[in-house]
Amino acid sequence: MKPTQPDSQGHFGDYGGMFVPETLMEPLNELTRIYKEARKDPEFKKELQYYLREYVGRPTPLYFAERMSAELGTKIYLKREDLCHTGAHKINNSMGQILLAKRMGKKRIIAETGAGQHGVATATVCAMFGMECVVYMGKVDMERQALNVFRMESLGAKVVPVTVGQQTLKEAVNEAMRDWVTHIRSTHYILGSALGSHPYPMMVRDFQSVIGTEARKQILKAEGRLPTAIVACVGGGSNSIGLFHPFIKDEGVRMIGVEAGGFGIEGGMHAARFAQDKIGILQGTKTYVLQDDDGQIALTHSISAGLDYAAVGPEHSLLRDLGRAEYSYVTDEQAVNGFDKLSQWEGILPALESSHAIAWMIENSAQFTESDLVIVNVSGRGDKDVMQLAEWKRKNQG
Ligand SMILES: *Cc1c(COP(=O)(O)O)cnc(C)c1O
Repeated sequence: MKPTQPDSQGHFGDYGGMFVPETLMEPLNELTRIYKEARKDPEFKKELQYYLREYVGRPTPLYFAERMSAELGTKIYLKREDLCHTGAHKINNSMGQILLAKRMGKKRIIAETGAGQHGVATATVCAMFGMECVVYMGKVDMERQALNVFRMESLGAKVVPVTVGQQTLKEAVNEAMRDWVTHIRSTHYILGSALGSHPYPMMVRDFQSVIGTEARKQILKAEGRLPTAIVACVGGGSNSIGLFHPFIKDEGVRMIGVEAGGFGIEGGMHAARFAQDKIGILQGTKTYVLQDDDGQIALTHSISAGLDYAAVGPEHSLLRDLGRAEYSYVTDEQAVNGFDKLSQWEGILPALESSHAIAWMIENSAQFTESDLVIVNVSGRGDKDVMQLAEWKRKNQG
């Protein structure tokens, strides 16, 4: 299959598009135009590669997980996005977009953040390039992720608490869009996942595809063949689409996306968009969206703030309908087990988000044999999550 590409209006099959107020159409079209120019410009590519190498620390290793492989009976490699500067893959995208903002002559950056990782990555690149940075964050998330709030403020960013609705990510995105409409001339909005209106799903995917491009080269060098399967967690869908995209044409490679199963699917306390069959429009894009019986956006739950969102990136919806990628979920409890196992087998504390991909591998290892080869993406490191994990364990394991 050819790699999926959106049409000029950003449609991935039936999904995606530009469902935004009239006032945002022009800036989004302008962003699309400038991005497409930049993508072809060797100078832009060179500059991005320079900062990814010298500042972010790319390429990240593809590490052969010896003990995990022995325990699970198949050969497993870990793509180490946790080793990126600031501790997660998010900075691949923030770096790309800040260079674009510079090219557009914008001096002010806004962003939304849930767990705070995208806010930290964006505050970091703003400090590097001396740009003003405003990050919108739900008040509930600010309390849950106080450490990341402190990091952003130390980096010189202004963190604005959002106090409407559930006071989490969805509301923070609304506030960021509202800010953007009123400051369109001076401001670029660095959206943090492969979500929202065109061109973001395509552009964020392109910036994150460095993950899959590196991994593909690295596995061919290490093993002389392509992997049997590649596995990543799916929040908005950026680390997963970044890993998947360079493998879409390799039909023999299974691509597995792991969503947040929360307390399990039955009670509705989860963020597994593909476990339900409902399509809707949320924050600029048409895609699978968790909804109640009246079509209202459902409340979501996950132990991991980065996976706790009602919609999924539109390209994933297309890949799922085409059957090219498979989507599954693991529960909070299985994710915590994934965190413990990877920590103890490999000396790597994965983010709670990434722990979902690890947990899927543990729960499904019987699907693979010794001759198989699997890449699991470790999208971020777990230091940010240790307080929350300690509390979870106190409550649930006595
Ligand atoms: C934000 C985040 C995610 C989820 O976002 P995607 O866009 O789905 O990648 C996953 N892992 C980590 C470490 C994150 O910070």
